[in-house]
Amino acid sequence: MSVTYQHYFIPETAAFHPTSDKLTTFIQGLVDLRFIVDERSFDFGRLISKPTLGGKTIPGYVLSDRRTVTPIPSPASATFFEQFLHSDMIIRWQIIDLSQTPVRHPVELFDIEPAQTWYNIQLELSHDYIYRTGDGIESFPSTRCGCGAELEFYERNTPFYTSKIRSVCPECGLQFDPSTITVELCNGFTGNCSRVPGGATSKFALVVDCDKCVPLCEVSRLHPDLAELCVNTFGCKFRDVINAG
Ligand SMILES: [Zn+2]
Repeated sequence: MSVTYQHYFIPETAAFHPTSDKLTTFIQGLVDLRFIVDERSFDFGRLISKPTLGGKTIPGYVLSDRRTVTPIPSPASATFFEQFLHSDMIIRWQIIDLSQTPVRHPVELFDIEPAQTWYNIQLELSHDYIYRTGDGIESFPSTRCGCGAELEFYERNTPFYTSKIRSVCPECGLQFDPSTITVELCNGFTGNCSRVPGGATSKFALVVDCDKCVPLCEVSRLHPDLAELCVNTFGCKFRDVINAG
């Protein structure tokens, strides 16, 4: 049996959107805690499997739409991220072979085969709400504003392969607040379900996408060092949402 696994770390305040300075601080934290490898380090030169762009190895990149890949400079700077501030953004690092990459897995899972393990660790940002649903994440009963206007929309060129929900109603100007809607979240591993305001819908999230590279396990959680880095850097509380099935 194979399952796919995405681990979302979602701000409890769904409207939270980090500044460029915070992004830069967070990325340096990822390097310091060895969740990613800095391009300038000795370890980066040792990697055998690594993402490439135009024949050049890249440590991480920004997707501002489905086609535009911009490598993150090393060291990352707030000025670099400023250029993307008004667009949707995925900031992604791909770990292709954990046995060849001297980093720590961002999710605590047991019985991992490092040579068989790959994943993406990424930050997702939008000025509208990224509407995440899936095997373990129930859809909202309605995505309409109180005035009746439909707030859900889909853009073909956004880097997210999901729809979004407008943060402000174009008809009446009311702000949409996902936390007023409670949905059921179910962990496909444990079968545990709970009802959570806002579900997995937010303007910002840390996402670990393990695809099918996960052992079946009863318990999984974001690595405590990574969770602490998120809380301390971004200054808000987060919740774990697991989409597995
Ligand atoms: Zn409205």
